[in-house]
Order: sequence, then C-alpha cells, then structure tokens
Amino acid sequence: MSKIIIAIDGPAASGKSTAAKFLAEKLGFTYLDTGAMYRAITYLAIEKDITDNQNAVIDLVRNLKINLRFENGITKVFIDGKEVTDFIRSKDVNASVSKISKIPEVRSELVKIQQKIANNGSIVAEGRDTTTVVFPNADVKIYLTAKEDVRANRRLNEYLKDNIEISFEEVKNNLHERDKIDSSREVSPLTKSKEAIELDTTGISVEEELEKILEIIDKVVKEKKNYHQVN
Ligand code: C5P
Repeated sequence: MSKIIIAIDGPAASGKSTAAKFLAEKLGFTYLDTGAMYRAITYLAIEKDITDNQNAVIDLVRNLKINLRFENGITKVFIDGKEVTDFIRSKDVNASVSKISKIPEVRSELVKIQQKIANNGSIVAEGRDTTTVVFPNADVKIYLTAKEDVRANRRLNEYLKDNIEISFEEVKNNLHERDKIDSSREVSPLTKSKEAIELDTTGISVEEELEKILEIIDKVVKEKKNYHQVN
C-alpha cells in the first residue's frame, strides 16, 4: 500500500484531535482537521453578519480560498491568505458552527478540498463524516467516543489551561447542542460507519487511548497487507 488514509470520527471533544495529531506526527502523515474548516467558514460568516442567510454563506464558501497548515501541534487556518487560527475556537463560533455545517453546499465545497488534500499522500483525517462521506475507502476507520460528562470535563480543562473563563455547564451544553445538530442533520450526519472500530475512552488515560489506537492501526494495516498479498 503506497498511500494510507486513517479516518477518525466521533462527537465533540471525544479525543479525535489528540489522537489524529499524535498519529500524524508518529507516522509522518498529513494531519487534516476538517472541523477547523467548518469553524473558519463560521467565523467569517459571523464577521460578515450572514449566519442567518444561507445563500450568502454558500456564496462565501464558493468564493474563498481556504488553506490549512499544521505547525508546532496547531492547525493554522488561512482564508484568502489571512490567518484566522486565533478566532475559530471562540464561544461565538462554537455556538454557530453546527448551524453552518448543516448547509449541504457548504459541506460539498469543503469535502472537495479535503479529498484534494488526500491526493498528496498519506493522511490522518478527523471530523464527523471522514469515515463515511469524505473517505469512504479509508484504510483505517475509527469511531471515538466517551461519556458526555467526561468529554465536557476534558474540554473544560483545555479552556482553563488557555485561561478562558467558562463553566462546566456552559461547555457541556455546547457539546450537547452541537452533537444533537451534527447527528440529526440530513446531509452527512455524525454516525458510526459500519466498518469503523469503536473506541470508548471513558475512564482511560490519553496514553492508554493512543496505545489502543496504535494497536487498532497495526492490526488493520497488517490484515490489509496480508489481504493484498493473498489476492
Ligand atoms: O471537530 P470540531 O469540534 O472542531 O468541529 C466543529 C464543528 O464542525 C462540529 O460540531 C460540526 O458541526 C462541524 N463539523 C462537521 N463535519 C466535520 C467536522 C466538523 O460538520 N467533518
């Protein structure tokens, strides 16, 4: 196998980014944070005050150039050459991103870009539809999950580390709302693909999570190699 695609999906704050970044660094693959793209469009829509105007958002997404650059553990996002990295994880973006991500035309435009990125070589992608819609032929598919309180606590700790003041309830409500919209939308809802291997990280440490993911990848890749050799 010359090029490998690893796809990781799951609800908000389920540990996808930690896992995907770790794998990309360890394996020397490109890291693709698809959520960063939806966040960047949402940030711009808020800036332009068009979040309630679907046609304007569609127009926006069709007429801009979005670039991702992974540097020093961070996905840097550029729109038409302007860096927006610092703005895409704000509370305002968190509150609107699922509404913007529901728009089918926004999804189809971003999926095209995501698939193009994978043309360049091996990749670790994470999001909500990377195992189902973006990379249905991914070599490894993982569905990460954890209990809602556990996910909310992990996200809260990330905010506190960055000195962002926010309550546990606020974090939990936002995760809950996003998961609800993301899983119930008509186009590419968050769902566990039937080929995906599910890993529930409730009660296990990050180290254990990463170890288990490496085991999954090792096993799947070995099976695939055998399959290709036999067939
Ligand atoms: O992964 P992250 O939590 O940063 O994603 C932010 C939001 O972007 C999600 O809640 C979802 O609405 C949207 N998203 C999506 N499809 C993806 C990745 C993210 O709809 N593949």
